[in-house]
Amino acid sequence: MKKIEELKQIVKSKGLKYTKQREVIFETILKYNNHLSAEDIYNILNKEYPNMNIGIATIYRALAFLEEVNLISSIAINKDGKKFESNDKKHHDHLVCIKCNKIIEFVDEDIEQKQKQIANNFGFKLLDHTMYLYGICENCQ
Ligand SMILES: [Zn+2]
Ligand SMILES: [Zn+2]
Repeated sequence: MKKIEELKQIVKSKGLKYTKQREVIFETILKYNNHLSAEDIYNILNKEYPNMNIGIATIYRALAFLEEVNLISSIAINKDGKKFESNDKKHHDHLVCIKCNKIIEFVDEDIEQKQKQIANNFGFKLLDHTMYLYGICENCQ
């Protein structure tokens, strides 16, 4: 997988030891293609790789590393939780439910265009943006 190769290169360029745990954690985020918390990843890995004995602390460390090297992004869901997604996904924005922590992804061309226009008005060359709209989902109201 191309992304796993990228991880290998990054680890090598930093002179770090390549660990299978880190690879499996990154692979899980790529494979599930949605927003996962450290606990979600912990539960998935313990089901799929019961022999690897990957602890929650290892997962937190790996997630911090993957985010630092820009392979994944996190979003703060509440005061003690984050959810992570791959940076490889197609651009999208987010609606976040503060009650059940569900994340809905959307793309709206009008919003995309408007942002470019605003950046333009300020003489900015827009490179990227991240949008999270916080609220309460239909099910939780
Ligand atoms: Zn909800
Ligand atoms: Zn997303």
